[in-house]
Formats: sequence, structure tokens, C-alpha cells
Amino acid sequence: MLRSVAPLIPCALLAAALAGCTATAQGQSTAKIDSVIAPVSSDPATAADPTTDPPTKADPPATTRPPAPTHQPKKPHPKVHPIPPKASKLPTTGQVVVLDPGHNGGNGSHPEIINQPVPAGNGTTKPCNTTGTATDSGYSEHAFNWAVALRVRTLLRQHGVTVIITRPNDTGVGPCVDKRAAIGNAAHANAVVSIHGDGAVTGHGFHIMRAVKDLGTPAVDAASGRLATDIHGGMLAESGMTPATYAGTDGYDSRSDLAGLNLSSRPTIMIECGNMRNSSDAARMSSVDGRDRIADAIAQGIEAFLITQ
Ligand code: ZN
Repeated sequence: MLRSVAPLIPCALLAAALAGCTATAQGQSTAKIDSVIAPVSSDPATAADPTTDPPTKADPPATTRPPAPTHQPKKPHPKVHPIPPKASKLPTTGQVVVLDPGHNGGNGSHPEIINQPVPAGNGTTKPCNTTGTATDSGYSEHAFNWAVALRVRTLLRQHGVTVIITRPNDTGVGPCVDKRAAIGNAAHANAVVSIHGDGAVTGHGFHIMRAVKDLGTPAVDAASGRLATDIHGGMLAESGMTPATYAGTDGYDSRSDLAGLNLSSRPTIMIECGNMRNSSDAARMSSVDGRDRIADAIAQGIEAFLITQ
């Protein structure tokens, strides 16, 4: 549906496209279709953070796994990853994390909304939102982003973290990229993590992006750097993914064209968890086990960051 309505568009043509559009070193488009959106009908800051997670295969009962230590050596992963038991009081208790799963399931059927220009920072505008990419077999990026965000939320809640997700479900439209950034700012979030999957023509692996210049202070900018480092460490230890071969350097990149980064005044990163157009990455990202591992890695990195705040 998404492709019939809004086929993948090279980033070069989507100059305004937001999150998740990356260009390869060879100048090839990663064909990420992030565009913009219109405000959603409900308040994302509240509706997106219900007290009970919807049942998913990725969220098994929280009874069998001890709290995950940070940056552990890689161990064989079982097929299912139990959620650790809830801790009573940890350094992370009471901290606020905003998770921003890119795109949304209804974007593709509402181009009149998501193509509306909105402020993107640095004096530029971008489409409100985009449809996102998909694997060659049709597994959508918005569904991947949503599934990973839900598991990260569950894991963080087990450590006392207050988690806000920027959209209430995976069937709506938007919110626009500027609104997503505003949610993190309004919440005075300790950390903001935007979750995406890439759609590059070639290459594989994850990369973590920071703003070249955001709204934050130098201290916030430094915190964004630590957040990037900690999530990078989590990805290396837990995700099974390797740093991107086609973007950035060793899994890191800086961008000046992403509204979610430019407009944030909080410690913020955006992660492209892998390249959904690459067969190996797509296999991992399409599987429950692969998504669990990526979510575990992101949660571990966020927790490591929060503990040092
Ligand atoms: Zn994306």
C-alpha cells in the first residue's frame, strides 16, 4: 500500500525528507522515504504511553530474565528474550525517555497530510512525514520501528524509566517531524531516541546520527554524544548487527537535514538499525528474534547513558 501510494523516493529528490534519509558516500540515495505528517487526532505524549503494553510476540512475560548488565560480552541468544523482572529502585528510576518510532502505518494513504511542509530547523522546511522504506518482501519500516519501540519501552519501564512514545499506534498518520521533536522538548526528556530502518541501495549495518547543530546547549550536545556512544556499544554487544558499510564512519554520522535532530533541545540521537534493502539485514529485522536483539541493544545503551546522568 505504501509503495503504490508513495513509491520509494531517492533522498536527493526528497531534499526535505526527514528522518532516516541518508546519502551514500557514492552519492547514491538510500531511498528512505521519510516525509511529513499532520498532527494526529490524539495527544501522542499521553496516548502513546499506556500503562499496559499491547501483547506482542516480542514481549514475553517479565519473569525469567535478570536485569541486563551493560555492555556484556556477546552470548548466544535464545529464540525468545524474556523481559527482566521489575526493579524497585535504580539510578534510572524517574528519568524520562522519549522514543520516536519513525513514520506511521497510515502515512502512505494520506499524502495530502504528510507532504505538507513543516519547519525542519536551520531555516529549512521538510514534508511533515514520510512513509518509510520496506524490505524487498514487503515488511514495512514503520512496523519494524513500532515493534522495536514497544520492546524498548517495556525494558526501560522495568528499570523505573518513564517512557513516552511519539505516536499512539502503528495505524495513524504522523505526527509531523517538528511535533515529534517538540514532544521530547516538552517532556524535558533525559534522552530522545528516534528509531528507524534504512532503505539504502547498497551496503548493510547500523549507524547512529547526531545533529551537526541542534537547539541544545553545549552540555546537551555533549550528552547526545555520550548517548550515541552508549547505544553504539549496546548495538555492538547485543544486536548482532555491525556498523554500516555505506554511511557515516564506524556506525556514527552527523546530519544537518533531519528535523528531529535539529529541533531537539534534549540529548537526542537517531538510529538506522540496519538496511532493510539488504537481504541479511532484512532477515534479521523481519524476525522476532532479530528485533528483540536490536531492542535489547538500544535499551541497554539508553540505560547505560541514564546511569551516568
Ligand atoms: Zn525511517
